[in-house]
Amino acid sequence: MMLSQTPFFDLTLEDLEQLLKGLGKEKFRAQQLFKWVYERRIYDFDQMTNLSKEFREELPQFLDLSLPKMVSHVKSSIDGTQKFLFDVGDNETIESVLIPSDDRLTLCVSSEVGCNMACKFCFTAKQKLKKRLSAGQIVGQFVQVLGTLPEGQRISNIVFMGMGEPLDNPDAVFKAIDVLHNDWGLNVSRRKITVSTSGLVPEMWRVAAAKVRLAVSLNGSSDDIRSQVMPINRKYPLKDLLEACREHARVTRDKITFEYVLLKGVTDSLEDARRLYQLTKSIPCKINIIPFNEHPQSGYSRPTEAAVKLFQDELIRLGAHVLLRKTMGRDIYAACGQLNATYKGHPGRLNVLEPNFHAPLN
Ligand code: SAH
Repeated sequence: MMLSQTPFFDLTLEDLEQLLKGLGKEKFRAQQLFKWVYERRIYDFDQMTNLSKEFREELPQFLDLSLPKMVSHVKSSIDGTQKFLFDVGDNETIESVLIPSDDRLTLCVSSEVGCNMACKFCFTAKQKLKKRLSAGQIVGQFVQVLGTLPEGQRISNIVFMGMGEPLDNPDAVFKAIDVLHNDWGLNVSRRKITVSTSGLVPEMWRVAAAKVRLAVSLNGSSDDIRSQVMPINRKYPLKDLLEACREHARVTRDKITFEYVLLKGVTDSLEDARRLYQLTKSIPCKINIIPFNEHPQSGYSRPTEAAVKLFQDELIRLGAHVLLRKTMGRDIYAACGQLNATYKGHPGRLNVLEPNFHAPLN
């Protein structure tokens, strides 16, 4: 009898146990398979030598070990940030970004091809949502990038800050998170996994339920401004969003990260800084300010360094916990809000690598 193949990387340990049970196999086989795949990085059943030959021959009939194909890879000559392009089928591509720093190695993963949130300043939003990734395609980004690293080197942190809105694809995202943090899976601590959302309030509880960290893209200091740059605010205005944030902090006893993009003349005034402080002061949080990263035809510009510093200083003066996100990978179009994977001529496009490409600097 020919069984249908299930993608291995879509399965949590529990899913795999259930699947094996349904086939009359022992439960502990699931742990054995996870160990081969996620710890030893063996993607060929034939090499799994502690399984009987008979079982090894049977496995490919119902499990598929294929991974999203990595089609290109480019490295920033400024800061060592790397961007990877993956083929996720149907002629669609996504990007992941690996960001080195002194004490950590962070992988920024994508959850969707394109995005429907329509944030005005984001390059990914220029592509409407084309496809929600499967759990396996999310886990696969991690597995594939890990495979490019020297033996023994670990990816310490994962952020869902790549293409797409993770809470618009929650089932796949939280399944992937289960595999990413499971001891038998990729064994990344929950505290080192961050889900970033534009503010899909009804799904935010799931971040707390998964015990991972929450980042919220605030990007506007009033409903007026936020609705102008993030249309989702019309559906879930600040009052509802901040209430959900307060609840998250209460349940998890953890700090939230508020991301705040500085758009010159739109969100970067000292008035904005004061309103931002008022909005967030009663929520355990830190504020991560991100100077706008340019991309073609955005219509926005990046404030000067002096303006960024004034904004940051005002928040510090008021007593906020504020960090300035360092711009990484700007020369390879890998910085926040620059992922698109389709734009002709920017590095990362299929077979079009232009390592000397530079985003316009102001
Ligand atoms: N959809 C999720 C995940 C994307 S995270 C979210 O909105 O949170 C990407 C982060 O980069 C968000 O905080 C977003 O506000 C920010 N961002 C988007 N475009 C940007 C740009 N051009 N410059 C700087 N930051 C940007």
